[in-house]
Amino acid sequence: MTTPKFKNFNIEPYKPGKSKIKKLKKIIKLSANESALGMSSKATKIISNKGLNLERYPDGKSQNLRKEISKKFKRDPDKIICGAGSDEVIQMICQLFLKPKDEVVVPEYSFLMYRIYANIVDAKVKFAKEINYKISNIEILKKVTKNTKIVFLANPNNPTGTYLTKKELLDLRKKLNKNILLVVDDAYAEYMKNSDYKSGLDLFKNKDNVFVLRTFSKIFGLASLRVGWGYGSKKIINALNVIKPPFNVSHIGQMAATESLKDQNFIKRSIKHNLYYAKKLKSFLERYEIFSNPISANFLFLDFEKCKYTAKYFYERLKIKGIILRSTEDGYHIKNKLRLTIGSKNENLAFMNAAKKILN
Ligand code: PMP
Repeated sequence: MTTPKFKNFNIEPYKPGKSKIKKLKKIIKLSANESALGMSSKATKIISNKGLNLERYPDGKSQNLRKEISKKFKRDPDKIICGAGSDEVIQMICQLFLKPKDEVVVPEYSFLMYRIYANIVDAKVKFAKEINYKISNIEILKKVTKNTKIVFLANPNNPTGTYLTKKELLDLRKKLNKNILLVVDDAYAEYMKNSDYKSGLDLFKNKDNVFVLRTFSKIFGLASLRVGWGYGSKKIINALNVIKPPFNVSHIGQMAATESLKDQNFIKRSIKHNLYYAKKLKSFLERYEIFSNPISANFLFLDFEKCKYTAKYFYERLKIKGIILRSTEDGYHIKNKLRLTIGSKNENLAFMNAAKKILN
């Protein structure tokens, strides 16, 4: 039988952090930067509600959710668009801005979906070198040409955990040609307590050439419900609404996200938990000469250069014990490193126990 001809993409498909190990029923997943404390009880309550009317299509404009976001962050709801994860917003931005042969600049070790969606619409992806696994403004600017349409970056960056300071981010916007859209992905912003850091949303309230991404998948703990949002100029938001799939965010997703925004205590607890265990895990691993980035988001980027074991060995031995970290070779092509998500108390203790046995 003949298969009708489809387009060929020269793309390495996204490989998520692994979540299963053959033959093991119980695993500890520290590979996808998900929330350590689950979700807010307010969100759990709303999604266990029996009267959700799931036979109806959801509100395609996510109006209540956008209203709640606008209240919480003091931003105009007409400058907000919701997506099935921030992932979908990245895809829509690529569809809206990029024609074949246009160029985007991404840091060499950045979230993989920027390059994947840009590739799908036939844009050319230019990789900007990082310096000691930190995004470099100079290297980004070196890659800009007259064809550059978008610069994507996550701050803090995944998988490296490093970040541009407030001053560096403002400086990048100043030095980039004003016709280039700077996309600042704030996926981990809520975790950031570093005094020299400011989120994209805080820094670029009225910049028409900056687009900010936010997600409910990380600190809010709604990864499976797929809810994220973008903040940008009304012109961009109006244009995105034209190409947006009509019912892109599920009703449950909208309801849970709206409720989770109302639970500031849950966010406070999550931040406190994250800082406490990030410090604990970092100093624990340093005893074995496994060093990591200064604490930033809900993960650590582990460096095995000085350790007597390799990242691969540690990864495989943990896997046998049912504990999964994120390989940085898959997709990112970074050798002898691993990414460790800060888990719940029990998960972190189990990790440290297992690690002790492997490393001693
Ligand atoms: N941006 C960054 C920097 C991320 O790390 C991730 C998830 N790993 C995303 C975006 C996508 O998140 P979402 O679940 O909202 O699609």
